[in-house]
Amino acid sequence: MKKTYIADLPKVIGEVVTLNGWVYNKRSSGKIWFLILRDGTGYTQCVVVKDMVPDDVFNLEADLTHESSLSVTGLVKEEPRAIEGYELEIKHIEVHQLADEYPISKKEHGTAFLMDNRHLWLRSRKQHAILKIRHEIIRACRDFFDNNGFVLVDTPIFTANVCEGTTTLFETEYFGRTAYLTQSGQLYNEAAAMAVGKTYCFGPTFRAEKSKTRRHLTEFWMIEPEIAYCNLNENMEWAENLVTYMINRVLEKCKEHLDILERDTSKLENITTPFPRISYTEAVKILHKQGEKFKWGEDFGGSHETVISDQFENPVIVHRFPSSIKPFYMKRDPKDENVVLGMDVLAPEGYGEIIGGSEREDDKNILIKRIEEEKLPMDAFNWYVDLRRYGSVPHSGFGLGIERCVSWLCGRTHIRETIPFPRTIYRLEP
Ligand code: ATP
Ligand code: MG
Repeated sequence: MKKTYIADLPKVIGEVVTLNGWVYNKRSSGKIWFLILRDGTGYTQCVVVKDMVPDDVFNLEADLTHESSLSVTGLVKEEPRAIEGYELEIKHIEVHQLADEYPISKKEHGTAFLMDNRHLWLRSRKQHAILKIRHEIIRACRDFFDNNGFVLVDTPIFTANVCEGTTTLFETEYFGRTAYLTQSGQLYNEAAAMAVGKTYCFGPTFRAEKSKTRRHLTEFWMIEPEIAYCNLNENMEWAENLVTYMINRVLEKCKEHLDILERDTSKLENITTPFPRISYTEAVKILHKQGEKFKWGEDFGGSHETVISDQFENPVIVHRFPSSIKPFYMKRDPKDENVVLGMDVLAPEGYGEIIGGSEREDDKNILIKRIEEEKLPMDAFNWYVDLRRYGSVPHSGFGLGIERCVSWLCGRTHIRETIPFPRTIYRLEP
């Protein structure tokens, strides 16, 4: 029998096909019963009529439990009253396994319970929609870089280097030495950019985030471009072009899934380039005007980011942060030593920072001084300083957090739903 997926039913109207899936729902009305089957590509109604199937098939109605696995064979018919506009007139049902009583029901469950059952929760309609949108976001980001001449160069997970600050490092024993799980591929990206010009890496990054926020995971996925001969302004252009490309792709390809999530897409549809650009100092003025207590030199917290981004409909780019709160590798502004040529992109609707990036320090002596000032182990950074010894050039890059973007585009309130198996300070299972 022709093996088909629910998403492909429109192509096989009038044919007898087999679908493989799981029981989503069923209801009976005497001589006829209905089964809603899901197969990962969609949901479809199957109709079982007493006189059209053997008795053992008809009688299955009594036994079939939610999430039982089965193969159903039947005739594909157009049916305007069915959810997707098609239905399957059943001829045969093969049961693979009758599921035990399924822990997740239609009633409301608490978050802790759902997270404990994350391995099952992924099957539910909204979580499935998020998985699909996440996939599209990742594809869009990859396509953006691939179509713009970037070369994917993978960076290591085990490193001897600290990149984003020592407080969030995960340490692991490494044959008698200490290794760290990567916080960012950036330092390696800089080496790769000197080899291929425009590069990106995409992979998991690890930060021992001790604060419990709805925006932080301890393991998250980041896509990071790095570009030789690129200044801060050009870096901001790459960032806004990536973000708009990603949004347009999701709006185009994921309408059905955004609808399932009841996402109001009008705000996403109105996003245009260029994004507004404001300096950190201007952002602080906005905070003061909105009545926030904030001292120049502090780092923005999530609530500050929300106040700033609420002033704009587009994402907003904040640049030139105080040098004291930014990592050693960011280049100081030649016009003002107190600030770095860094930039963050803040998403609207309170989603906060989705991108952090900068122009990198390209002067060997200044870089060495910074590494010393930060009391970082020079031995581990010798290779990195080499990049300034052998053909140093102005260069820039940034990191975009995939989960922050999934959260924003899907309109979720917490980052834990944006990754299949979230890792946070309190959660290592499932
Ligand atoms: P934040 O201030 O929100 O902690 P950060 O300044 O530490 O962010 P960067 O080091 O600039 O972030 O990392 C680049 C991007 O990676 C961020 O803009 C964000 O999208 C994402 N990101 C950073 N930390 C996390 C995390 N713990 N969980 C999920 N995404 C993160
Ligand atoms: Mg952080």
